[in-house]
Amino acid sequence: MSKEILNADHVTKIYGVGTKNPVTALNDVSLKMYEGDFICVMGPSGSGKSTFINNLSTIDVPTKGHVYINGKEVRKMGENEVGKFRYENLGFIFQEFNLLDSLTMSENIAVPLTLASKSIDEIKQRVQNIAEKLELVHLLDKYPGECSGGQRQRAAIARALVTNPKLIVADEPTGNLDSKNSHDLLSLFKNLNEKDGVSILMVTHDSMIASYSQKLLYIKDGQIEETVERGELSQTDYFHQIVDVNASESQKLFVD
Ligand code: ADP
Repeated sequence: MSKEILNADHVTKIYGVGTKNPVTALNDVSLKMYEGDFICVMGPSGSGKSTFINNLSTIDVPTKGHVYINGKEVRKMGENEVGKFRYENLGFIFQEFNLLDSLTMSENIAVPLTLASKSIDEIKQRVQNIAEKLELVHLLDKYPGECSGGQRQRAAIARALVTNPKLIVADEPTGNLDSKNSHDLLSLFKNLNEKDGVSILMVTHDSMIASYSQKLLYIKDGQIEETVERGELSQTDYFHQIVDVNASESQKLFVD
C-alpha cells in the first residue's frame, strides 16, 4: 500500500463569511492522495477547481474541515513552518508563469532555494541539474523578456521542481502553451510521476491533457460530482471517457 500524502477531510470553503452574500465555493469535499497518484481536476468555470486545489495545498485555509499533508495538519502549523514545508514538499505551477522580469532565468529558478537559505554551491548545482533536464542551460543568463512563452513556462516548471517536491500542484499549467509545449510538459509530468514517484494534482479544461492522469475528479457546484479511474484503460480509451463525462455533465446545463 502506498503512503498517504494528502488527506482532505470534509473541507468547506466559504468566501465572504459574515457578509450579505457569502459564496460556498467548496462544499464538504473529501479526498485522499497517495504517493505516486496523478489526479486531474475538471469542471465548469466557477465550479470551485482553483479553490479546491488552493485549499488542499496550503495556499488557502478552509472555512471548515481539515487538511493533512504527510500526516501533519496544515492549520496547526505556524507561518514559518508552512513556508518551510512548502519549499521542502510542494511545487506550484500556474497558468501565469510569474517569473520576475528583473532576475535572470537562473535567478528565477533559484528563488525557492534562496528563500530556503541554501548555500550558493548547492543552489548552483541544483539549478544546473534541473536546467539540463528541461533544456534551459543555454538560457540561464537571459532575462524572461528575452525568452519565448514555452521557454518561460519551462523556467517556471524548473523553479517548481528545483526543490525536488513530492507533490506538484498545477492550475491550468498548459493554459498559455501551444499544443507541442503542452504535450512536452505532460510527458515530463508523466516521467516524474512514473520514474520518480512524484504525485501530481492538476486542474485543466483540456480532456487531452487530462488523459495523462490516472484519475479524474469532475467538480460541480463545489462538490466532486464524478470520479473516473484510468485503471487498465489505454490513454485513448481513458480520453474518450473523460470527453463523455464532460459532454454529459455539460448537457445537464441545458434547460429545454
Ligand atoms: P474555478 O477554478 O472552477 O473556475 P473558483 O474556485 O475560482 O472556480 O471559484 C469558485 C467560486 O468561488 C466562484 O463562484 C467564484 O466566483 C468564487 N470565488 C473564488 N475566489 C473568490 C474570492 N477570493 N472571493 C469571493 N469569491 C470567490
